[in-house]
Amino acid sequence: MMSQQPNDLIQVEALIKRPEMLSYILGQLSNRMYILDKDGTITYTVLTQQSILELVFISEPMSLFAYIHPDNQSVVKESLVELLTTNDKVSFECQWAVNDEEWSWIEAIIIPVKEADSSVYKYFLSIRSISEIKEREEQLSRLAYQDPLTEMPNRRAFEMYLQQAIANAKRYNQLMALFYMDIDDFKRINDQYGHETGDLLLKTFASRVKRCIREIDMLARLGGDEFVILLPRIDSVINAQRVAERIIASIQEGWKIGEHVLEATISMGVTVYPRDGDDAIRLLQNVDKALYQVKNNGRNGISFYNQNYIQASDSLGLELESQTTEFIKGR
Ligand code: GH3
Ligand code: MG
Repeated sequence: MMSQQPNDLIQVEALIKRPEMLSYILGQLSNRMYILDKDGTITYTVLTQQSILELVFISEPMSLFAYIHPDNQSVVKESLVELLTTNDKVSFECQWAVNDEEWSWIEAIIIPVKEADSSVYKYFLSIRSISEIKEREEQLSRLAYQDPLTEMPNRRAFEMYLQQAIANAKRYNQLMALFYMDIDDFKRINDQYGHETGDLLLKTFASRVKRCIREIDMLARLGGDEFVILLPRIDSVINAQRVAERIIASIQEGWKIGEHVLEATISMGVTVYPRDGDDAIRLLQNVDKALYQVKNNGRNGISFYNQNYIQASDSLGLELESQTTEFIKGR
C-alpha cells in the first residue's frame, strides 16, 4: 500500500528547523557537546539552554586525551585515525574523566565541521553517558559466567577455562589434575535443617575449599552440590593427591551454619591430564567414573580414576614423581 504524504509535513518541517527548536531538542538529548581543534584540543563547550546553540570558550583548553581513561586511549586513537582518513563522523565508547578519580562510561560522536569547500575546520564532539547500560551489560556477563549463590565460576566458565588449560598444558607439556566433588547426603542436610541452611552450607563450602587451592586453580560450581577444581599446573600426581586430601580434611572439620552445627562429608573423583585423557570429554567422563566409585564404596573419600597409578604412589613416593616427569618428557 502506498503511504500518503501527510498534509502537515511542511508545517512540521518549518517548526522543527527553527534554531531555537533545534537547540531545545539537542538540549533534551542530555548530550554534552564540545568543539575540538584539529589537534584534538577541546576549545569550546556548546551550550543549548539559551534556546540557541551557544559556544563558551574554555579558558584552559585541554587535549581530548586528558579525559580518556588509559585503558581506552588506543581505541580512541584508532577512531581518530579513521576520522582523519575518512573525514566522516566516528563514534566510540570509552571511560571519561568526571573528576580526578572518577570515570564514567560514555559514547562519543565526533563530526567534522566543514567549510564551504569541504575542508575540515574544527570537529564537533558530542558525548552521552552510557554508565547504566555498561553496568547492566557487566551484570549480565557476570550472571552468564558466575554462580549467583557461591559467586564462583559456573559450568560455562569452567568449560571454557578447561579448554584453555588443556591447550596450555599441551603446549608446555604440563601435568594437570581435575577434581570432581559432590557433597554426601546433601538432600538429608536440606531435609533436616532446611533449604536455606543448605544454601549457606554450599556458600561456606565454596569459600572453605577455595582457601585450600592456589590463585591459578579454579573452583567452579557445576550445579546442585557438585563442584569441580582444576589444577592447571601440578609437579606430580602426589602433589594433586595432597591438595585433595587437604580439602577432604578441611571438610571434615565440621560446620557452623547459622545456629546449626553440622557435619558434612564429600566424595571426590580425581583424574590427571594427560595420562587419563587428553581432551575435555575424556577427562570429564573419567573423573565422573572416579567420583561414582567413591559413592559406591560408601562415600567420604577420594578415588583416582587410575587406581594403579595412585596405589603405586603410596609405596614409591619420590620414585613416582620422577616417573611422572619422564612420562611428560616422553610425550
Ligand atoms: P549423594 O550422597 O549421592 O550425593 O546424595 P545427595 O543427597 O547429596 O544427592 P545428590 O548429590 O544426588 O543431589 C543433590 C541435592 O542437592 C539435590 C537437591 O535437593 C539439592 N540441591 C540442589 N541445588 C541446591 C541448591 O541450590 N540449594 C540447596 N539448598 N539444595 C540444592
Ligand atoms: Mg550429593
